[in-house]
Amino acid sequence: MTRHFDPSLVNDPFDDPGVYIDLVFERRALLFDLGDVARLAPRKLLRISDVFVSHRHMDHFAGFDQLLRRFLGREKMVRLYGPSGTIDAVEGKLSAYTWNLLDGYGGSPVFRITEVDPTGRQTTGEFSGRRRFLRSEGMTVQYNDGVILREAGLQVRAATLDHGVDVLAFALEERAQINVWRNKVEAMGLAVGPWLREFKEAILRGASDEVPIEVIWADGQRGAPAVLPLGQLKQEIMQVTAGRKISYVVDCAFTNANIEKIVRLAQGADILFIEAMFLHADALVAEKRRHLTARQAGTLARFASAKRLVTLHYSPRYKGQGPRLARGAQEAFLDRL
Ligand SMILES: [Zn+2]
Repeated sequence: MTRHFDPSLVNDPFDDPGVYIDLVFERRALLFDLGDVARLAPRKLLRISDVFVSHRHMDHFAGFDQLLRRFLGREKMVRLYGPSGTIDAVEGKLSAYTWNLLDGYGGSPVFRITEVDPTGRQTTGEFSGRRRFLRSEGMTVQYNDGVILREAGLQVRAATLDHGVDVLAFALEERAQINVWRNKVEAMGLAVGPWLREFKEAILRGASDEVPIEVIWADGQRGAPAVLPLGQLKQEIMQVTAGRKISYVVDCAFTNANIEKIVRLAQGADILFIEAMFLHADALVAEKRRHLTARQAGTLARFASAKRLVTLHYSPRYKGQGPRLARGAQEAFLDRL
C-alpha cells in the first residue's frame, strides 16, 4: 500500500513532545507541536508547511524561534494553528527582534496564523517578512465539525481539551483513494476516457452498485451495452485504498468531557500519539497537574478503537523507566490489566 504519511516522534519521549509527518509525495511536512526541534535536520525543518500547536507552554512552543531562524531569507509560507491568543503570542515573539536588515535577504517568509477557539471560530492573522513582520489582520470564520485544514488529499480536525488552559488535540485524515487499473479497463475492451471520472464520482457519492454508468468501448466493440452497473466496474477495474488517520493528544486531564472529545476525535485512528506523563501509581499527581497517566492513555486508545498506540511526553521523574510507562499504556490498550 502506498503510504502518504510518514510520522515520527521529534524527540525522545522524555524530551519536548512533537510529531513530524512527512507527506512523502508532496515534498512537504506537517508538525504537531513546536517544542525543541533542534533534532530535526535543517532540510526536514524547511519542508514544514503547517504547524499545529496544542498550547503555549514552553515545551510545546519554544521551537518557534528555531523555525523562524531557519526560514529567514526563504520565500516560504508557513501556516501555524493554535488555541486562542496564538496570534498575539506570535506577534510578541516576532516583535522581540530587530528587523531593519530584512531587505538584504533574497526571500522572506510569511507566517499565517490561525487561532481556533472552543466555540468553533477561527481567526487568522499574518506576518510577512516583507513588512518587517508587522501584523496584518485576517478574517474570522466559523468552522464545522472541527475541521481546521481541508485540502484535496487530506484534512485536519481539532478539538479543545481542558488542561487548566485550553489545549488543542488534532486528527489528520487522508482521503480514501480510488485507483483505476488502466490495463484492466483495456482488457475489458473499454476505452480510457472522461467516463472514468463520472465512475469515480459515483463511488465517492456512495451510489448503489446497480447504478448504470455510461461507458465508452474501444473500437471494434460495436453492439456492446452503453452502460454497465457500477458494482461490476468496481469489482473489475478499481481498487480503493482507505485513507489513514493519525491523531495527536497531549496535556489533558482524564475528565469525562475530555474523554468524550478525545474518543470522538481519534476514533479508528491508525496511530494515536498520546501523552503518558505519569505512572498510574501517581494518578493523584496526574489529576492535580491535569495530565494523563500511562494507563489512562491506553484506555483512551482502546475506547477510540485506535489500531496502534504510541506514547510520548513522559515526566522526567521516571527517567530510565520509559519502558514501564509504555508498557502500562499498552496493557490498558490491549485490556490486559
Ligand atoms: Zn506539556
